[in-house]
Amino acid sequence: MTAADPDDRPDAALLAALTPIVGGRGVLVPGADDDRLASYATDWRGAYAGRPALVVLPRTTAEVAEVVRACAAAGVAVVPQGGGTGLCGGAVPDASGRQVVLSTERLRGVREVDVANQTVTVEAGVVLADVQRVAREHGLQFPLSMGSEGRCTVGGNVATNAGGTAVLRYGGMRALTLGLEVVLPDGRVWEGLRGLRKDNTGYDLTQLFLGSEGTLGVVTAAVLALHPATPRRATAWVALADLAAATALLGTVRAVAGERVTSFEVMSAQSLAIVLAHVPGTRDPFATAHPWYGLVELADGGDADVEGLLEQVLQEAVEHDQVVDAVVASGPRAAAVWALREGISEAQNGEGPSLKHDVSVAISALPAFVAHADVALAEVLPGVRVVSYGHVGDGNLHHNLTKPVGWTDEAFLAHADRLTATVYASVAAFGGSISAEHGLGTAKRDAAAAQKSPVELDLQRALKRAVDPAGLMNPGKVLAAE
Ligand SMILES: Cc1cc2nc3c(=O)[nH]c(=O)nc-3n(C[C@H](O)[C@H](O)[C@H](O)COP(=O)(O)OP(=O)(O)OC[C@H]3O[C@@H](n4cnc5c(N)ncnc54)[C@H](O)[C@@H]3O)c2cc1C
Repeated sequence: MTAADPDDRPDAALLAALTPIVGGRGVLVPGADDDRLASYATDWRGAYAGRPALVVLPRTTAEVAEVVRACAAAGVAVVPQGGGTGLCGGAVPDASGRQVVLSTERLRGVREVDVANQTVTVEAGVVLADVQRVAREHGLQFPLSMGSEGRCTVGGNVATNAGGTAVLRYGGMRALTLGLEVVLPDGRVWEGLRGLRKDNTGYDLTQLFLGSEGTLGVVTAAVLALHPATPRRATAWVALADLAAATALLGTVRAVAGERVTSFEVMSAQSLAIVLAHVPGTRDPFATAHPWYGLVELADGGDADVEGLLEQVLQEAVEHDQVVDAVVASGPRAAAVWALREGISEAQNGEGPSLKHDVSVAISALPAFVAHADVALAEVLPGVRVVSYGHVGDGNLHHNLTKPVGWTDEAFLAHADRLTATVYASVAAFGGSISAEHGLGTAKRDAAAAQKSPVELDLQRALKRAVDPAGLMNPGKVLAAE
């Protein structure tokens, strides 16, 4: 794109309407602001790119409402954008150069902390790590946790119904969001910032916006549920003979440790191998390789002896042949084993492009699903490397694929559609979901539609039409534009 391209000229009338609302510094214009604009045209990883008509940076809910109203009046689509860490292209405009990106980066206010109610009310652009920090400063915790927490925003977390590593104990954003403030596609503001844990007064509008990926409105603020702090933590890294051992171990851990189980993650031998190869400073806690590994974390407050409890869990697991080997870690050693789990994404980049599949099936079906998918994948592309890992406590695996050793990226990507279709066919065979926590965006929209019944699709389209009859709020994401 160059400034000389006539298609790049911003819509003068729209610019004239938006500038008085957000001020000159609150609008980025193609041509004049290309250096700053580029980062809003792509996602954080650079996997998706589009061409914004303009980027607007409102500072208040009132400004968001005025911007959305002006865009609606001009018949211009709005693409809400938070930290841009979404993995499905949901926050990126299309290539038309006619969509306005509305960034929440200046909506960073913490409006209220209610310690007695254990809630915090924050604006949509607040970064997840800052919510965690504010909670800590009040002796509480906000338990949503994920690799992108230093950049992703509350608005994005709500809009994608984000999950992460502590869903097993605390639930994802659906469970952690008590109320919302949303600017609707026509510019009206729905003020639903109620910090209530019980409210049966009709349809649940808060939940309607959870996971709606910016297609029903712009989330401007949220009331989030906080939890008691759990400073006492113990982490185990375990070697497993197979994935069935992981699901059996999960049962033992839950039976013995109850609600103190915060995380139960698994990773395949292939996942660990690429982490050790690509992430500096990592090392294998065991002397020999094993087919699967698990990471179990218990947490509690006060004086609870979580390390002792974890030792007890592991002893029982050894007696039932559920683990082959185990180490219990705390402090820096616990951080070192978490680095093995959290380094997988980065390590996969070191092996070239990866085909990412964020899938879920019933926990009990995980071993059979993986066996089924891997046989089918090996038939499609012998030697394809399956980098499987994830939140086994939620039945959620990232069943990602990396090219066979010695292959070029191009040769591998030529098989991408068939490989992904193979994973999704296995998901369907086990009654699972092709998007457990990352959403649909544009990347998985059509594959998800192919697995939904006509009744379910009709209901989803009816909801979209009811809230956004003009189809201007993040069109083409989640559902194909009508
Ligand atoms: C290294 C890494 C690790 C990750 N780990 C996890 C994980 O463990 N679990 C998990 O669930 N996800 C994970 N993700 C994905 C991502 O971080 C989450 O989906 C996150 O919630 C996106 O937040 P964001 O602010 O970056 O949203 P964006 O990427 O900016 O937007 C995502 C979607 O939300 C919409 N949106 C954003 N803000 C608003 C708003 N204010 N109002 C309405 N719609 C809005 C956008 O239009 C888009 O459709 C990971 C990503 C990375 C890069």
